[in-house]
Amino acid sequence: MKEPDLPVLDWAAAMDYMLKREGPLSSTGMSQLTGMVNSKYAPAGGRQPDIQYFFGGYYASCSDGNTIEPAQYAATDRRNIMIAAIALQPRSRGYITLRSTDPTAPPVMQPNYFCDEHEMNVIVEAARIAYRLANTTLLREKYGMVPTPGYGDNCPGGGANPTDEFFRCLAQYQTAPENHQVGTCKMGPRIDPMAVVDPQLRVHGIEGLRVIDAAIMPTITTGNTAAPTVMVAERGAEFIRSRHQLYKHIPFSGHRNYFGDSSQQDDDRWHIVHKEEKWVNWKWDRNWNWENRRNEQKPNWIKKQNTPVAAASN
Ligand SMILES: Cc1cc2nc3c(=O)[nH]c(=O)nc-3n(C[C@H](O)[C@H](O)[C@H](O)COP(=O)(O)OP(=O)(O)OC[C@H]3O[C@@H](n4cnc5c(N)ncnc54)[C@H](O)[C@@H]3O)c2cc1C
Repeated sequence: MKEPDLPVLDWAAAMDYMLKREGPLSSTGMSQLTGMVNSKYAPAGGRQPDIQYFFGGYYASCSDGNTIEPAQYAATDRRNIMIAAIALQPRSRGYITLRSTDPTAPPVMQPNYFCDEHEMNVIVEAARIAYRLANTTLLREKYGMVPTPGYGDNCPGGGANPTDEFFRCLAQYQTAPENHQVGTCKMGPRIDPMAVVDPQLRVHGIEGLRVIDAAIMPTITTGNTAAPTVMVAERGAEFIRSRHQLYKHIPFSGHRNYFGDSSQQDDDRWHIVHKEEKWVNWKWDRNWNWENRRNEQKPNWIKKQNTPVAAASN
């Protein structure tokens, strides 16, 4: 941009914020801005954009203590802004694994960027759109936006009319992880060798263990991941609460495990309970206690479980 890159955190900025909640300290600069766009590879209908832009720049930075007038700044000390393009529906899959048996050793994280050509095509188009945006009359003439000198010099095909090859090369040099890693414990059916949790977030084959975080997403959401993670957490909490309410009053059955059943049997019970409408609509008392409601018809499995252990063994 054509304005000088002045450090903006000084007393005036501090006063502005403390007295009026205004000025550079009241903002995170251009990172507040994002945008989504459909590339020509996006799913038809335009409702699931496959490119997201993140913007950077105009961050509040500290002065080194000297007061320098804008006129003293070299022409090269201009404000930079950044436009980063994200491929929202990547097809390449990376992995995370242990590096060694040493528990303190950092894991191996292998992202496998661009293993699938799809992402490269999307990113090249995204870069073209960003380039066009930066080249609009308003940004170019009013704000003096020009490409950062020297950026991409090691890639052939740059200049005023950059080629697709230039953007491909640039993508390979400049691609970095976004902060939205997911899928290391994906949800899926038991028969899927890569699936870790079932639809109720229970780890396949391990009783009493759930994973409830961004790791369970089988594919990444089209956009930022914090809100979807909160939704996963809400669902997970609900699963745990429901299960607790369902089993809380089942007497000890003599098995070692309090619940005394495999996951499959739990599933069956769950379905029995939910299929019986009468049972679903049944009003529990405030302590979730069905003992006080002897007149209600209970599903057979509850009756069975309620049979005293001694009687059952006769
Ligand atoms: C720099 C950055 C910026 C981001 N910005 C955004 C954004 O603007 N918008 C958005 O939607 N998403 C954003 N994200 C993504 C979002 O934060 C994550 O998708 C989300 O937080 C994932 O939630 P999680 O519960 O899966 O994991 P986390 O939020 O990482 O939670 C894991 C928790 O486990 C704890 N933990 C780890 N190991 C142990 C252990 N051994 N014992 C006990 N506790 C442990 C950690 O301390 C942490 O609290 C950002 C991520 C990063 C890193």
